[in-house]
Amino acid sequence: MLIFGLVAATPVVYLLLFAWIEDHWLPRDELALLVTNLVVGGLLVIGWLLVWRDVVPWTRARRFWTGASVIGTVALAFPVGYAIDAVVGDEELAVVLAGLSWFVIWVVTVSLVWAETPVERARRLVRTRPHAIRCLKCRYNLTGLREARCPECGSAFTLDEIVATARPVEDEWG
Ligand SMILES: [Zn+2]
Repeated sequence: MLIFGLVAATPVVYLLLFAWIEDHWLPRDELALLVTNLVVGGLLVIGWLLVWRDVVPWTRARRFWTGASVIGTVALAFPVGYAIDAVVGDEELAVVLAGLSWFVIWVVTVSLVWAETPVERARRLVRTRPHAIRCLKCRYNLTGLREARCPECGSAFTLDEIVATARPVEDEWG
C-alpha cells in the first residue's frame, strides 16, 4: 500500500534531510528543522495527492480549497509552533511538534474538502450500480429523468412507487 509506505518512510527521510541541512547549510538546529518541515511537508502533500487524486471528485472549488488548505494550515503552523514553544520552552522540539500537528490538521482539513456531497454520491452510485428505473405501465426506461412522469405514455408515479419497484440492472436481464 502506497499510503503506508509514504507514512513509514517519512521519519527516515525527515532525519536524513535534517542531518544533511544541518551539516551543509544551516547549523542552527531550529532553522534546519523548520526547512526540513517545509520540504518534508511539501513531499507529503505531493504524495497524498498522488494517493488520493483518482478518488477525489475534483471540481474547481475543490482544487481551490485544496490549495488554500495547504497555505492556510502552513500559516497556522507558525503560531502553533510559538504556542508549543511557550509551553515546553524548547524551540527545536516546538518546531518538530508544530510540523507533526500541521500534518494531522492538514489531513483532516483536506479530507473535509475532498468529501463527496450527497448529490455527488447519488450520481456515483447511479454510474456504478445502475438500477432499472422503468415506467410501471409501459416499461420505458426512466433513468436520468428529473420528474416521475413517463415521457412515453404520460403516466405519473410517486417517487416511492418508483423506488419500491426498481431493481438492479443485472436482475432485469437475468
Ligand atoms: Zn410509460
